[in-house]
Amino acid sequence: MDELVRLQSVAASPDGLTATAARLETLLKARGFKTSLMAAQGAPPVVFGSYNSPGAKRTVVFYAHYDGQPVTSEQWNSDPFVPVMRDGAKDVDWKNAKPPFDPEWHFFGRAAADDKNSITAFLAGFDALKAIGHKPSINIKVFWEGEEGRSSPHLAEITRSHKDELCADLWLIGDAPVHQSRAPTLYFGARGNLGLEATVYGLRRALHDGHYGNWVPNPAVMAAELIAQLRDSEGRILIPGFGDDVRPLTAEEKAAIARLPSMENDLRHEFGIGRSEGNEELTASTMRPALNIKGLRSGQVGAEAAGAIPVDAIMAMGFRLVPGQTPQGVRAKVETFLKSKGWTVVTDAPDTAARLVHPRIIRLAWRDAYPALRSDMTSPAARGVIAAANAAAGKPVTILPMMGASVHLYLFDDIMKVPVIGLPISNHDNSQHAANENLRLRNLWDAVEVYAGMMSRLNW
Ligand SMILES: [Zn+2]
Repeated sequence: MDELVRLQSVAASPDGLTATAARLETLLKARGFKTSLMAAQGAPPVVFGSYNSPGAKRTVVFYAHYDGQPVTSEQWNSDPFVPVMRDGAKDVDWKNAKPPFDPEWHFFGRAAADDKNSITAFLAGFDALKAIGHKPSINIKVFWEGEEGRSSPHLAEITRSHKDELCADLWLIGDAPVHQSRAPTLYFGARGNLGLEATVYGLRRALHDGHYGNWVPNPAVMAAELIAQLRDSEGRILIPGFGDDVRPLTAEEKAAIARLPSMENDLRHEFGIGRSEGNEELTASTMRPALNIKGLRSGQVGAEAAGAIPVDAIMAMGFRLVPGQTPQGVRAKVETFLKSKGWTVVTDAPDTAARLVHPRIIRLAWRDAYPALRSDMTSPAARGVIAAANAAAGKPVTILPMMGASVHLYLFDDIMKVPVIGLPISNHDNSQHAANENLRLRNLWDAVEVYAGMMSRLNW
């Protein structure tokens, strides 16, 4: 883990990505894997490896990504690529410390929790089995990609063009945090994603708000009004028919959610929030589609706030989709709704002629579109995974029918037509995608056990 974090595998450092892929290939080769690098034009390679276990009847692909999110070094308490172990706020000289280590220590470094921990746990689990002379119960394939942080633009292309080599009975996705209770967790799906940047146009140039304030339309107010029409403060999306296509939860999925320990009070304290939206527990709320306002910009604030009517308002929004919904369907519903409210929907900035005839103009830029997936929790493969995870953890693991966040699970389901199940590792408070990303040591140890359990006990 220490060595992997030092390799600067971020999009800004193509050499670091290449060096990491080469190192991972070497690590797999040293363990007897047949390896190759799966390339696509302009993409860091996918590190592929396969290991056949004589007598095994099932083949499982272990997915992880070796790239990390971009870094803003000045926001970090230490160099993101020089790992540090900490006990609370105190640095620990772990390389010279006597075992046993404290499971509550946290290991800091970029990609320590997202997602080099999955690769580390896989390798450590494989080595542990070998050390005790256990033969894997499955044929193993690994698929470690290098551009997840950029939304995997070449993932479909690479997966499709290597379909034969990637043939398997199951994909296990080693990414994402475990449940907030810190218990080992499996997830059976992930919400889809649909990004939208919407620009509301006002006047052509900013004007004095005293001379014109009640007469010239204010785009910030128009945007605020629109947001309140799209979504209420309890998280309900108000677009008519928005939820019509949503596939309901099965009895098993509802039962799994009902079994989750209640974390809501702890989380309200941890996050410093005096209320939560809706009248549901956290996981139940993430089974619904969501509309998040990621950012709003109009005019200026603070010392720069002029007495003027701003010229436009820009809203960065994100939809989380659930099974049954498609990005195209959601997009059509949003655009129909906007038109019903008197908006003229455009894709380019309007000229004066357009502004004069259309009183409410909104420019939409859609992005990051992909659907959700919820795998069948009762399939033979799913039952096998749950049994292996329970046995490895020595207790029933936490089961999430679907993760609130979005990962490209649908793609493997769509192309490979096999069950796709998530095997998360990180602590929920890992600061992934931010400064001071960290992995709680206990989470890594749990993960080594679960990975070794998958490789040695999985069978169906
Ligand atoms: Zn990740």
